[in-house]
Amino acid sequence: MSFADVLAEWPVERVQSLLAAADPERVRRVLSHGARSEADLAALLASCAAPQLENMAQRAASLTRQRFGRAVQFYAPLYVSNHCVNGCLYCGFNCRNRVARRRLTVAEAVHEVQHLTDQGFRHLLLVAGEDPKGVPVTYFADLAQELRPLVASLSIEIQPLDTPEYASLVRAGVDSLTIYQETYDPVEYARYHPSGPKRDFRWRLETCDRGAQAGLAFLGIGALLGLADWRVDAFYVGLHARYLQRTYWRQHVSVSFPRMRRAAGAFDPSYPVGDADLVQILCALRLFLPDAGMVLSTREPGALRDHLLPLGITRLSAGSRTTPGGYAEGTEAEGQFEVQDHRSLAEVMAAVQAQGFDPVCKDWDGLYHDATGSAAIPGGSS
Ligand code: SF4
Repeated sequence: MSFADVLAEWPVERVQSLLAAADPERVRRVLSHGARSEADLAALLASCAAPQLENMAQRAASLTRQRFGRAVQFYAPLYVSNHCVNGCLYCGFNCRNRVARRRLTVAEAVHEVQHLTDQGFRHLLLVAGEDPKGVPVTYFADLAQELRPLVASLSIEIQPLDTPEYASLVRAGVDSLTIYQETYDPVEYARYHPSGPKRDFRWRLETCDRGAQAGLAFLGIGALLGLADWRVDAFYVGLHARYLQRTYWRQHVSVSFPRMRRAAGAFDPSYPVGDADLVQILCALRLFLPDAGMVLSTREPGALRDHLLPLGITRLSAGSRTTPGGYAEGTEAEGQFEVQDHRSLAEVMAAVQAQGFDPVCKDWDGLYHDATGSAAIPGGSS
């Protein structure tokens, strides 16, 4: 049993029928009770819920304070390689794009991390394209061994691996896994991924199952909003997160809702997602997943991030560079996507504090994990 088996019971047409069947009275009922079913999630994501967004936002904010208090954790993405053998149509790093390619040496990565830790970051997300020959698993293990002593937490957002490979990275010090399905609609997925190993929809879909079984303590998922009908994809993100929470109860699960941004290759999203749509997604997922972490990256502009923060966000990036070597060298050209919030960590922390929240660069979850990285308690902040 994996999430692929769960998804097989939820074809796109079934989700669309639930969305179409929702009505304002159903939304009101969903908002007035606590435990929420899959049909309730669909009602909250339906177009008929939009007029009740203010009510949804108040309940989402209150639920977040109950479960997470006022702490907001910060992390920095560290792009270590933009080599990639995949042809994802929407990505600036796709193998058909003529961009300068680079893989950081371990020494260069350490240099980048020193820039980040000098600013105060202690949670790091290693990001790389997919190039199993040029950038093998052993490369990430070497990186992890060098970088782990410098930070409190080390996450990876790299190509899907098998369980023994994830276990080797856990032993090297990696504790968290982030993987976006991009879209859960298999037809749209095939259209956007015409070449490369990423064409394998199921292999990607089961990535978190393999990572959890290997002992990774924090699992982060999401869809790239704009590739397909956002209401359907947001529903699937909720379904996937709830499956992971119930199946791997010792792991902490977080969700992201990155919106498609223009990248090298000038790709524009087929299904644009407006700001109000993003608020609806965030609130619906918070109400469906009270205990999930919620991550918001610098893809969104600063003013919008400040506005979204109280509604359910538990984790923010800041001052991000999306090119390998971008921190030490200050380069921003040819990134994976356009960063919209250009504020420094200090500036974003000040904005978070001004809203009455507590910015946290380091937490102590590591104390509660055994030497293999297996979670000893549920919860925490990924
Ligand atoms: S999205 Fe990831 S896998 Fe696809 S082309 Fe970009 S870097 Fe490669």
